[in-house]
Amino acid sequence: MPEHGQTQSFDLIVIGGGSGGIATARRAAEYGANVALVAASPLGGTCVNVGCVPKKVMWNASHIREAVDLARDYGFSVDMKGFDWSLLKRKRDAFIKRLNAIYSRNLDMSGVTVIDGYGRFAAPYTVEVGQQSLSAEHIVVATGGQPVVPDIPGAEYGITSDGFFELEQQPAQVLVIGAGYIATELAGVLNGLGSDVTILLRKHTLLRSFDATLRETVMEESQRQGINILTCVHLQELTREDDGKLGLQGGDGEKLGGFDAVIWAVGRQPNTAGLGLETAGILLDEKGFIPTDDYQNTAVPGIYAVGDVTPRVQLTPVAIAAGRKLADRLFGGQQDARLDYDTIASVVFSHPPIGTVGLTEEQAAETWGHDAVKTYQSRFTNMLFALSEHRTPTVVKLVTVGAQEKIVGCHIVGEAADEIIQGFAVAVKMGATKADFDATVAIHPTSAEELVTLR
Ligand SMILES: Cc1cc2nc3c(=O)[nH]c(=O)nc-3n(C[C@H](O)[C@H](O)[C@H](O)COP(=O)(O)OP(=O)(O)OC[C@H]3O[C@@H](n4cnc5c(N)ncnc54)[C@H](O)[C@@H]3O)c2cc1C
Repeated sequence: MPEHGQTQSFDLIVIGGGSGGIATARRAAEYGANVALVAASPLGGTCVNVGCVPKKVMWNASHIREAVDLARDYGFSVDMKGFDWSLLKRKRDAFIKRLNAIYSRNLDMSGVTVIDGYGRFAAPYTVEVGQQSLSAEHIVVATGGQPVVPDIPGAEYGITSDGFFELEQQPAQVLVIGAGYIATELAGVLNGLGSDVTILLRKHTLLRSFDATLRETVMEESQRQGINILTCVHLQELTREDDGKLGLQGGDGEKLGGFDAVIWAVGRQPNTAGLGLETAGILLDEKGFIPTDDYQNTAVPGIYAVGDVTPRVQLTPVAIAAGRKLADRLFGGQQDARLDYDTIASVVFSHPPIGTVGLTEEQAAETWGHDAVKTYQSRFTNMLFALSEHRTPTVVKLVTVGAQEKIVGCHIVGEAADEIIQGFAVAVKMGATKADFDATVAIHPTSAEELVTLR
C-alpha cells in the first residue's frame, strides 16, 4: 500500500463491482493488465445482491407453490402447512454471501486488486477512494443504477426493490406501483406466496414495451390469479393511517388503504452523482446516463462506460458482454471487439413467464411497414395443466418480414418460456426464416414444438 499522498498506478481502473465492472476487470487482468476494481458495495452489484439472483430465488419459491397446487390435480394428497418467509430470506441471504465470496476469490485468482469504497474522479485519469489515489491510462465507469423514488408527498413510506429484499416478514397487503418488469415480477412473487397484491398503473397496461400478446396474457393471468390491477391512476400522495397501515390518494379522488407495504417500481436511474464526472470532462445525456459510442468509449479518450450507467439495455449479461468486449479490445489485441446490441433476448419472471427476442409486431411494422410484416401465433395449453381446472395458457408468436419471412421477433409467454427462449434466440440472431423453423423437426410433446409447427 503506498504512503498517504502517493498515487498508485494501474493499467486499468474499473469503478463499480457489479456485473459489468467485475467482468471487465477480470478479462483485462487475464490478459496481463494491472487492474484495480473500486467497489462501494458487496461484490456482484445489483444483480447478485438486490436484483436477478434474490429475485429468481423468490420466483422459484412462488413457482414451487404453484407446483404444490398442481400436485393435487396429479393425485397427490398435499397440505400446504405454511410458508416461512424469514427462513427463506435467511437461506437466500446465506446463498448471496457465498456468491459474494466466490466473486472475491475469482477476482483474486485473476489478479485484480479490489479496493473497497466509493471512487470519484480527482482528475481525468486519477480516481480517489477515500484517502487513496489511483491513476491509470484506462478507466471504466461501471457504477450501475438505483431505483427511482418519485418526489410526491409521503413517498418515503414506500420501499423500492432494494427494500423488498430486506423484508424480514411477508407483508399481507401490498401495493406495487409501476408497470415494468420489476413491478410485474415482484407483484407476481408476492401474490404467488400468498400476499394480497394491488398493482397501480399510470396508464392502461403492464409491460408496455413488450409485444401486445405477451402483455395481454400476463395482465389477464395476473388478474385471474387474484392480483388487483388499477389502471390510469395519477398518484398524488402516500399516507400513513392511524393504525400504521399505508394508503394512497389518487388525483381523481381515489383513496385506498390498509397496505402493509408499498413498493416503488417506477424505473431506475444511473449512479453518476458524486463521481466527479465533470472533473473528468464527461457530460451526461438528458436522462443522466453516460453516453458512449459503439465501443463503450465516452467522449474523453481512455474513459469508458459499461452497463446500466449507459443508455442501453439494462440486463446483467449485456453489462458483462460489453465489459468483456471492451477488455478484449483494450488488452486482448482485438481492435474491433464490441458488443452487438441487436437482438438481445430477455425474460420476465412473471406467472407465467415471458421469453422474448427481437422486435414486437408494432416495432416491425414501424420499421418495414405493415404490408411487409406477417405474424404467426398460437395459443394452447401446456400439457402440464391438462388435468387442471384452470389451464394456464401458453402463447407463442413469430414476427416475420419480407418475402423470405425472416424472423425478426420471437415471443413466448407460458410455462418454461424462460428456458425455451435462449435456443430460439440463437436462431433469430443467425437470421433464421420461417422456412428454417418449419424445416426443424418438432420435439413432442413440448410447448417449444409449437414454434416450429406454426401455420
Ligand atoms: C429487482 C431487479 C431484478 C433484476 N433482474 C434481472 C434479471 O432477471 N436478469 C438480468 O439480466 N438483469 C436483471 N436486473 C438488472 C441487472 O441487475 C443489471 O442490469 C445489472 O446489475 C447491471 O450491471 P452493472 O455492472 O451495470 O451495475 P450494477 O450491478 O448495479 O453494479 C454497479 C456497482 O457499482 C457500485 N458503485 C456505484 N457507484 C460507485 C462508486 N462511485 N464507486 C464504487 N462503486 C460504485 C454500486 O454500488 C454497484 O455495486 C435486475 C435488476 C433489478 C433491480
